[in-house]
Amino acid sequence: HLQPQLQYQSMRKHNVSTASSISEHEFSCHCCYDILVNPTTLTCGHNFCRHCLALWWESSHKNECPECREKWEGFPKINILLRDATDKLFSEVVQRRRAEIQANPKISRSLLAFQRYGDNLGRSRTNQHKGAGFFFSGVLSALTCVAVMVLVYHWSYGVVEQHDLLISKPVARWTPEEVVSWLEQLGPWAQLYREPFQQENVNGRLLLMLGDEELLKAPYSIENQAHRRAVLAELDRVKALGVKPPQNLWEYKAANAGKSLFLLYALKRSPRLTILYLYLFDYSETFLPFLHTCCPAIAHIDQEVESRFLETQWAEFLVKYCLLPYQLIAEFAWDWLAVHYWTSRFIIVNAMLLSVLEGCALWRLWTRARIRTLPHKMWNHLWKMLSQGFAFALLWPFVPQFVCNCLFYWALYFSPIINIDLVVQQLMHPETQAL
Ligand SMILES: [Zn+2]
Ligand SMILES: [Zn+2]
Repeated sequence: HLQPQLQYQSMRKHNVSTASSISEHEFSCHCCYDILVNPTTLTCGHNFCRHCLALWWESSHKNECPECREKWEGFPKINILLRDATDKLFSEVVQRRRAEIQANPKISRSLLAFQRYGDNLGRSRTNQHKGAGFFFSGVLSALTCVAVMVLVYHWSYGVVEQHDLLISKPVARWTPEEVVSWLEQLGPWAQLYREPFQQENVNGRLLLMLGDEELLKAPYSIENQAHRRAVLAELDRVKALGVKPPQNLWEYKAANAGKSLFLLYALKRSPRLTILYLYLFDYSETFLPFLHTCCPAIAHIDQEVESRFLETQWAEFLVKYCLLPYQLIAEFAWDWLAVHYWTSRFIIVNAMLLSVLEGCALWRLWTRARIRTLPHKMWNHLWKMLSQGFAFALLWPFVPQFVCNCLFYWALYFSPIINIDLVVQQLMHPETQAL
């Protein structure tokens, strides 16, 4: 029993001593005719240095063995056993060649490209395996179809153009039909008073003359005091502006094309900075209504004190502002759900997706222990936003209306679809950087 073991041990000793007598020819690469470095075995069984294979792959654009031209399957791996053997047997040569390869930028680039090709191959295989790629591309196509349909609806029914008229046409020149449509937009309760306005053929000039007394008496007979006050308040706004104030997103966009486009992109890219900008430079016009919509006071607020905030409102706002700024935007869109059925939904979905993307980015920084670079990143972001805002302001007068519309609808309807894809990528490969 002991004898075979002894025999085996003596055989091993013998082998080690004869190892140096193995000729270099057996361990040479058939591309460079030198000792194999990181030998890579193909499916045909041939071995090549990894960098020789990468160079060949890059120049030929083929997945073929350089020697027998057989196609290889999958992504070739380094043959670990062979590598360890050559590293030990020809350590000097291999070390010298490794240093040469590292010093050669062309070879390094080829190796990197080859590795990337392999990574992509592996990724697409795992996607296929899970079937998720197929599923989400289906969802994405469906959503793109919905977005295109919404756009076609808006353009073909002229929703946008119809409202353009009243917000840019002076009140004094409104026709009786336009006065009635203005009245209807005040709310469902205004339907009650549609008839008398229609019968009397009230045009814009006459509308401007109407006061509390006229509205109370026949033929208008608005006996409900609240209704009368609402009509008069709206009439005062119209008088002050000279035109109808914008009452929905499309009217707002028509009246403030540049501002709406700026807000759309800025809120998407950097909600905190944009809200801060609104607080500093556009307090009463935009910031106040925004805040009252997102963080409504629990107690009823009178018209007179609407320009002030309760402390609880501020606290709620600041917490959301710091932690979940996109939540504020989603809540604002939620309030408009009745007016803009599809658009509000797109904005809410997009806000949630952007929150997830922001969370992923933070999580990545945290797991890579690079959270200390956050202030630096924020500073860079601030500069980027400022320079982009400046460029936008400079270029704005030269942007054609058509391009502006395209950018607007793109940000509104297509960016949520792109973000769905980004979120899926992030959740499936959390280690990769989002674009
Ligand atoms: Zn080689
Ligand atoms: Zn081969």
